[in-house]
Amino acid sequence: MSVPAGIMGPMTDLFLEVRVDEERCIGCGRCQKTCAGVFDTSLGKAGVRVTRVPRELEDACFDALEDCPRGAISGFEVRDVLFGLVAS
Ligand code: SF4
Repeated sequence: MSVPAGIMGPMTDLFLEVRVDEERCIGCGRCQKTCAGVFDTSLGKAGVRVTRVPRELEDACFDALEDCPRGAISGFEVRDVLFGLVAS
């Protein structure tokens, strides 16, 4: 792949993405108590506020995933491709 002058890349970065299986979720609220920055159960079942988990919330998010009594939370490491400007 050719990269335009002044642009370096591609660089890659890994980030965590989470999803909730609504069929499995029973709306117990444990995930929100553990990681309110990512999970929201205000509508009865859990949903995610952000698909890309901020770095500072990753540990809490993994705890929520492991503590879910229904195994309804899935986590994926996603590789993002970034381009950066070359400093002159
Ligand atoms: Fe649903 Fe699991 Fe969260 Fe409970 S902990 S609300 S079952 S996703």
